Amino acid sequence: ELFINQLQVRFNGSLQAALSIPTLVVATGSHVAVTGVSGSGKTTLVNAISGLERCDIGQVFWDEQDIGRLSESKRDRWRAARIGLVMQDFHLYPGISALDNVLLASRFYRWRIPSTLKARAEDLLEQVGIRQGKQCVDTLSRGEKQRVAIARALLPQPSIVIADEPTASLDEENGLQVIQLLTHFAREEKSTLICITHDSRLTNEMYRHITLENGRPVKDIAIGRPL
Ligand code: ATP
Repeated sequence: ELFINQLQVRFNGSLQAALSIPTLVVATGSHVAVTGVSGSGKTTLVNAISGLERCDIGQVFWDEQDIGRLSESKRDRWRAARIGLVMQDFHLYPGISALDNVLLASRFYRWRIPSTLKARAEDLLEQVGIRQGKQCVDTLSRGEKQRVAIARALLPQPSIVIADEPTASLDEENGLQVIQLLTHFAREEKSTLICITHDSRLTNEMYRHITLENGRPVKDIAIGRPL
């Protein structure tokens, strides 16, 4: 479960908080869409709940762990193990293969990649429709790149998947594939899925819809599905 308590994030001593959330609870396994105009605080929210952004005031708890109280290295490890991040522009590491991109984070924490992890990476790439895992990512299409990014996000079997506009830089067909993959895996693994998106095809798949305005949640609608 995600629990946000009196959270505020300000930039450069600004008087107005870029993000201000009195209280927000997201049940484990729910699928939440976050929308809002440009500058409304969506990316700041994603960064705060994944521990990438320091909170000036308040706390972010994941399963009762206050992530602001973790040391930086513990928080990095926590994030690597628990959160799968999918970004609009893929954030793949250039010049190396799809498979190496999927395994990249693991290399920071392990001296040797266990063969089971490599097998899982290969399996995930196959599941997202990337047959040429050895191919350099620079040569892949945008849709393929995003599918590699999804495989990378899913490798550690994260209990939380956070996607920041995952379909925004894709054409219709590739966007649809990405939506199907994200929702399929989240259901299968029973993970919490939080998607910043304006794509109605993606919001329609979510159980809850939160709208941000000036850094504050102004609408929070549950859609008739479990959780
Ligand atoms: P977009 O849809 O354009 O990505 P957003 O809803 O994700 O916008 P944020 O990027 O979270 O919005 O920004 C929220 C507010 O915080 C904006 O007013 C923005 O200018 C400000 N902001 C974000 N990051 C920084 C930063 N590093 N330094 C200063 N101000 C920032």
